[in-house]
Amino acid sequence: MTVRTRFAPSPTGLLHIGNARAALFNFLFARHHGGQFLLRIEDTDRERSTQRAVDVIFEGLAWMGITADEEPVFQSTRQGRHTEVAQELLEKGLAYRCYCTADELKQMREDAIANGQPPRYNGMWRDRDPSEAPEGAPFAVRLKAPREGETIINDLVQGEVRVANAEMDDLIILRSDGTPTYLHAVVCDDHDMAITHVIRGDDHLTNTFRQAMIYRAMGWDLPHFAHLPLIHGPDGAKLSKRHGAQSVVEFRDEGFLPEALCNYLLRLGWGHGDAEILNREEQIRLFDLDGVGRSPSRMDYVKLTHLNGVYMREADDTRLTDDVIERLKEREDVTVDDALHARVLTLMPGLKERAKLLTDLADSAAFLGRSLPFTYDAKAQKQLSEEGKDVLRGVAQALALVEPFEASAIDAALREFAEAKAIKLGQVAQPLRAAMTGSTVSPGIDLTLQALGRDEVLARIGAAIAHG
Ligand code: GLU
Repeated sequence: MTVRTRFAPSPTGLLHIGNARAALFNFLFARHHGGQFLLRIEDTDRERSTQRAVDVIFEGLAWMGITADEEPVFQSTRQGRHTEVAQELLEKGLAYRCYCTADELKQMREDAIANGQPPRYNGMWRDRDPSEAPEGAPFAVRLKAPREGETIINDLVQGEVRVANAEMDDLIILRSDGTPTYLHAVVCDDHDMAITHVIRGDDHLTNTFRQAMIYRAMGWDLPHFAHLPLIHGPDGAKLSKRHGAQSVVEFRDEGFLPEALCNYLLRLGWGHGDAEILNREEQIRLFDLDGVGRSPSRMDYVKLTHLNGVYMREADDTRLTDDVIERLKEREDVTVDDALHARVLTLMPGLKERAKLLTDLADSAAFLGRSLPFTYDAKAQKQLSEEGKDVLRGVAQALALVEPFEASAIDAALREFAEAKAIKLGQVAQPLRAAMTGSTVSPGIDLTLQALGRDEVLARIGAAIAHG
């Protein structure tokens, strides 16, 4: 058996991290078993589905490095097939036409509730002859669900789960307007796509019992099911806006690297010994469903942010620079050009030491692209006292002569200058930092000066001396 999994999002909103994690697990499981991972866009709800949401799904998956092995299937294109299967069930007597009107259904629900019963369809048309229906009346197609016995699912995460068939009513497979219901479409598509493992959120567990009835009626083999516990907020409550980012795109915008988010989502609800940091290759090698836990996981933004910092320090400087440049384009106080790109790239080893998010990197790199004159924050102004300016005048002369204008030679020149003046290196570095950044924070001053280049350094010193 070749393992075939799928991710089947409905394009009605965000690519939520719960869904993204399901996509990741499906992808890793298929790869681990040398199988295929497929994508199906469940766009049958034409009113709620949007092209924007479809784009967001593709964008999010591509960003996370989750690629499908076949062209995506759009569920809406398969309506003919869904109808055909419903027709076959009708012909076999395993489904029937239900002519109930909306009023009758409403009444049925009210009666059930009044009798303390769950509001279920009572099988009114199950054994009636369609000739009893008024001429040309609209009908839905319902599955003739078994009433005795149990439906048992051996879920690969939840274990054995069972429900008495008497508790389930005859589900609609085709609505009266001829459109398939979600439950029916999913079964037809999973069967036709030869899906062997359905891995999805456990909010779908009750659907699975109903879907199993359709498989059985059609005489199709059931796939294996694995229902993943949901992701909650740090406080254990349902994940919501107040907890922070929830959609994949938001995490990207907030400055997370996709590999950090993937690693985090993988570890959230899956474990292999005490392995914490796993690259994609290791993830594929180690991932299997027996490592998935049964209890809901809690999103820990602090841990994720920490992990992102770890990944950033490992990340390629050019890639980080390209990302930072994109973020800096959004800022009015920064001029983005090739010179800035070169400066950011030079300083990146220093910048990424402290940052946890790409947005932090962009913030700390912004000074490289600022134009004179600067505004200096209060701490920087303090450094630009008469004494500080004196230091700057002297150090400007020393820096004018440094050759090559690189961190080690700059460092040597600054030390020599400090020694000659009998002051501490910090007393040289701090006014310089104020002059370069308008603040008092930057990576190592030697690398900072190298990144800016001699002309810019001297110009910034001149402006700082002239200030106030
Ligand atoms: N389209 C469904 C959803 O987005 C998922 C269906 C499934 O995985 O079976 O919730």
